Amino acid sequence: MPTSEFNVVGLDIGGTRLKAALVSFDGSLTGNFSEASRVRGEYNALLEQILNAIERLQSLSDIPLKAIGLGVAGLLDKDRRNIIASPNCIAFLKGSLVADLEFNTGLPVVMDNDANMFAVGEGFIGAAQGSDNFIAITLGTGVGGAIVSGGRLVRGIDGGGGEIGHIPISIQGPVCGCGSNGCLESYIGRTGLRSYIFKKHPFSAEFGLRKLALMAKENNLHAIDVFRYIGRMLGIGLAGLVNIFNPEIIVIGGGISASGPYLYEAALEEISKRAFKVYQTNLRLKSSALGSMAGVVGAGRCAFEEKGRN
Ligand SMILES: [Zn+2]
Repeated sequence: MPTSEFNVVGLDIGGTRLKAALVSFDGSLTGNFSEASRVRGEYNALLEQILNAIERLQSLSDIPLKAIGLGVAGLLDKDRRNIIASPNCIAFLKGSLVADLEFNTGLPVVMDNDANMFAVGEGFIGAAQGSDNFIAITLGTGVGGAIVSGGRLVRGIDGGGGEIGHIPISIQGPVCGCGSNGCLESYIGRTGLRSYIFKKHPFSAEFGLRKLALMAKENNLHAIDVFRYIGRMLGIGLAGLVNIFNPEIIVIGGGISASGPYLYEAALEEISKRAFKVYQTNLRLKSSALGSMAGVVGAGRCAFEEKGRN
């Protein structure tokens, strides 16, 4: 069995969790862990947390560490060195994370949006493995998205794009965190979903998505309705993307895979009503295969690619 000549560290930092692991060339993980992320306070506390994570992982292997891959919940500048907006992680904006990590570790750091890292991970060894045309969506606090077309991540003139959560799906609609209204995220992001559940199923309002997923699996009708609702709204947004990108696979991640078929059935129903029939023949909706560590695998993969270029 071939072994890595070197390892990288993959990090995935979101509004609530920091996930990290040593990543090998084949995407296998060592020492993976998840802890509360220090993204809402001071920058130095966050930097210290990341450096500790790297040091901890480095001590687990004799194979040299050569690069760091970092997925973050935020918008990046064009050369992906700085985070320019991150409503849930204000600490990111108070310092220069890539420069500071490179200075402190002496290693190259490659950073990208967390949804892009999720897509890279799923495309490498996950639910979209081998596909050159797929769409990746993560459901959580927000609705993250990434689009791979012709084997490449879609990036626009400013290095961005793929913001599936901010596709407008209604003329009017709830105010969205981005400042617009009627975006997909304003319906099925955490805030929008809470207000739907509170209105329709007040008894379930205290439960998170993971708990509701388990309830749906046990045939709780309130929980089933919630997942049908998410699927319906998602399907409306996705139908447009199916027509534009003609994808082979749509990967959905974010702790809903335990909810059973309801979300997927409702999404497919909307897509089948709204998208070109010919584009539905080869289309499959799939759950994330790598679960909560998909972003870490993707960050590791990007770090390997970066190192390969050096
Ligand atoms: Zn929006």
